[in-house]
Amino acid sequence: MSTALPPSTDVIVVGAGNAAFCAALAAAEHNVSVLVLERAPEDEAGGNSRFTAGAFRCVYDGVDDLRTLMPDLTDEEVAKSDFGTYTEDKFFDDMGRVTEYRTDPDLCEILVTRSKSTMQWMQSKGVRFAPIWGRQAYKIDGKFKFWGGLTVEAWGGGPGLVASLSGIARRNKVTIAYDARVTSLIADDDGVNGVRVKHHGKTVEVRAKCVVLAAGGFQANAEMRTRYLGPGWELAKIRGTRFNTGDGIRMALDIGAMPTGNWSGAHAVGWDRNAPEFGDLSVGDNFQKHSYPWGIMLNADGERFIDEGADFRNYTYAKYGRVILMQPGQFAWQIFDAKIIPMLRDEYRIKRVTKVRADTLEELVAKLEDVAAAKALATIKTYNAAVMTEIPFDPNVKDGRGTGGLAITKSNWANTIDQPPFEAYAVTCGLTFTFGGLKIDTSARVMDSDGIAIAGLYAAGELVGGLFYFNYPGGTGLMNGAVFGKIAGTAAGQRAAQSP
Ligand SMILES: Cc1cc2nc3c(=O)[nH]c(=O)nc-3n(C[C@H](O)[C@H](O)[C@H](O)COP(=O)(O)OP(=O)(O)OC[C@H]3O[C@@H](n4cnc5c(N)ncnc54)[C@H](O)[C@@H]3O)c2cc1C
Repeated sequence: MSTALPPSTDVIVVGAGNAAFCAALAAAEHNVSVLVLERAPEDEAGGNSRFTAGAFRCVYDGVDDLRTLMPDLTDEEVAKSDFGTYTEDKFFDDMGRVTEYRTDPDLCEILVTRSKSTMQWMQSKGVRFAPIWGRQAYKIDGKFKFWGGLTVEAWGGGPGLVASLSGIARRNKVTIAYDARVTSLIADDDGVNGVRVKHHGKTVEVRAKCVVLAAGGFQANAEMRTRYLGPGWELAKIRGTRFNTGDGIRMALDIGAMPTGNWSGAHAVGWDRNAPEFGDLSVGDNFQKHSYPWGIMLNADGERFIDEGADFRNYTYAKYGRVILMQPGQFAWQIFDAKIIPMLRDEYRIKRVTKVRADTLEELVAKLEDVAAAKALATIKTYNAAVMTEIPFDPNVKDGRGTGGLAITKSNWANTIDQPPFEAYAVTCGLTFTFGGLKIDTSARVMDSDGIAIAGLYAAGELVGGLFYFNYPGGTGLMNGAVFGKIAGTAAGQRAAQSP
């Protein structure tokens, strides 16, 4: 539905993903008018948030906390589950460890300490959550044991989350305009007071007391990613939306905002070698191939090139995409045998998968397209001989079942590849989102390059820099967007309510 944009409003939110809607809902609590401007047409709206599985990394001190997020949880479900805890300390440790202690301590503290209350706030608005039975729990002795600190997902995954947030926003009198690409900020010495927006092909100005930028990173912009991430990155596939081309970052930098964070870093995973250039909503995140810790990966030279079992998947998957991109031909094959095939995640069983299957290793390596077969066979045999089979395989803990004497060790979950049938899956680099972005303070105000807040300008989500470096703990993107989206929206709503 196309309606003309109003000439002015109290708060403009740029984008219509998770961070944007959390900002819009928080602003609307202050009885101000809120306009969400979404670049995509409605059928492609929702940004990367819509492509997710909807997993949120949040602090909980036990099942009572989880019940506040998921009041539908039955006693029977609780009885059959070992949810454990995910404490603030654990979240801090994870953020510190995976970012090599570069995460901005002030932003990280807010992210961690407000994660639970922000989820509770979302739940109070009507967002439904459920335990991630499928991907984050293994059944042991009849109980589902959760692992990796990632326990809760939005009902209906990313599509469910975006549909739910859009509906809640509308019920809270937020106006949403689709096909509305914000091209620049209107700003003067007093700060930001509106945007220029191309709405259904026509450029208009909309004035506002505050603007919240939640327009995502620059991953879908081949020129920017080659410029900032480096040579070769134009060849990566984009896992999510084609609309996150760095507009929000660029328009803020144009008025003097400070860039910060890991501009040459990004979240990038192993992704089907034949996936399309951008994400496909009908497949969602199922082009990813995340069971590599239980197998091995070979490159075009038939060599292993990384410790597949260095840590739980949650803590390595986001940095291994880059490693695959740097291999000859930008691809790798993941190899598994009959012992592991039944354990492979659901995404290995989709129709659009690049897969080969064989009954002998000789036959398997011959089927690995673009791979030096003889070397691949030798690598598998050498690896098999190096597996410490005396240590039992346990997928729920870092089992220490590694390899001995290889140039590239496998630290955990080393299983021999010797029981037919054998399967191999071809992956390339799937880029999720970029890490560099705008500098904000703990009130989500965008800072200028002199370190002074730009009046009336806030930012949240993917386009904020400083939280993630090198790597990222799974489920933190949505949590980050929600926490800082709420903070940005609250600040913008308060400011707008107080302005004449
Ligand atoms: C396949 C996949 C799976 C993922 N799984 C998870 C997961 O399970 N858990 C997790 O925490 N994270 C996950 N992530 C990461 C997560 O998607 C992001 O970190 C998070 O959704 C970012 O939210 P956001 O609101 O900042 O950006 P987005 O949701 O990307 O929203 C940005 C919005 O801005 C709009 N926009 C862009 N430019 C303009 C413009 N000029 N004018 C107006 N609008 C504009 C876009 O159309 C979009 O609506 C996944 C990502 C992908 C791609």
